[in-house]
Amino acid sequence: MMTKIQETTLEINLPALQNNLSFLKSKIKPSTKFMAVVKAYAYGSDAEQLALFLEKLQVDYFAVAYTDEGIALRKAGVTKPILVLHPLPIHFPELIAYKLEPSLYNKYVFDAFLIASEKEKEYPVHLKFNTGLNRLGFSAEDISTLENHLINNENIKVASVFSHLGASEDLTEKAFTLQQITSFKEITNRLLSLLNYKPLLHILNTSGILNYADIAQFDMVRSGIGLYGFGNDARFKEDFKPVVALKSVISQIHSITPNQSIGYNKGHIAKTTMKTATIPLGHADGIGRHYGKGKGFLTVHGKKCPIIGNVCMDMLMIDVTNVACKEGDEVVVFGENPTASEFAATAGTISYEILTAISQRIRRKIVY
Ligand SMILES: *Cc1c(COP(=O)(O)O)cnc(C)c1O
Repeated sequence: MMTKIQETTLEINLPALQNNLSFLKSKIKPSTKFMAVVKAYAYGSDAEQLALFLEKLQVDYFAVAYTDEGIALRKAGVTKPILVLHPLPIHFPELIAYKLEPSLYNKYVFDAFLIASEKEKEYPVHLKFNTGLNRLGFSAEDISTLENHLINNENIKVASVFSHLGASEDLTEKAFTLQQITSFKEITNRLLSLLNYKPLLHILNTSGILNYADIAQFDMVRSGIGLYGFGNDARFKEDFKPVVALKSVISQIHSITPNQSIGYNKGHIAKTTMKTATIPLGHADGIGRHYGKGKGFLTVHGKKCPIIGNVCMDMLMIDVTNVACKEGDEVVVFGENPTASEFAATAGTISYEILTAISQRIRRKIVY
């Protein structure tokens, strides 16, 4: 039996994580390396705990967005290689001190890293190329400028060359994705002909693994959202298991008479007699003001209770008129039903956003 929830809690289910890793790995060759993306607190969960758990299973690499995230993993005892996807030059000394591996995405960061790594020998770096997302990355034309710096440079060594897909979950954009993959092949062929060693090549994220593993898995794949239980497509709903569940409790119940208002700015005016429950969870916890006023619901004893009025900083109110409930009872925000993706959809957003918004002040509870 699970112990009763007595405060707002983010449950983190490690067996679900293991299930998702196995499912993703079943889509790729055993020899293809697996990079676990644990940026943004492992998509709002707990990067240290998850990385330590994943390190004991079979993952080859970790990825974070920023240097500080990588440092936190090292301090927690993570020893596998860690790619920093979006490092900024100011952090290069620390990045090197903690043996983190930078993604170098333009000449500006590349030059800065050459200076920072002057005393290093074959320091692993990752070259990121833009193949259509137009976010970060060298362009194919940059190869000629890079060439001189890559050959005969003993300070750095290219551990991998990678790119990122812009619409891998959207099969109506298949032509665009195939074009990105083709560009990546052209770029990497040119680079490989220049280097006298072979870096790892990778382009697939979670949806890429699900949709393009047959043609573009290269040497490694990178997965974030899939590990946390989302395949960005209803086809895979049964295969993935949500890793986190956000639960809370009822702090107070109010009986409201017609025409009384509820919450700031009279966000809701009662038309009839109603019963509301106040929940210790607000926009400071990640449930933004785009919920409420008819968008989003919490689940009490299996029943959907709409979020009413405006979400406050530390609280929100739900309509429990038709639910037999009392103060102290458990409330489900998302987990298995609804999933974070379904909950997010009620306010027009996506699983990635709701998960990573869950604030650090909410207690994490690891479930084994
Ligand atoms: C965040 C990120 C990923 C992970 O993407 P998912 O869709 O969560 O699997 C992979 N690669 C890069 C470059 C990223 O920024």
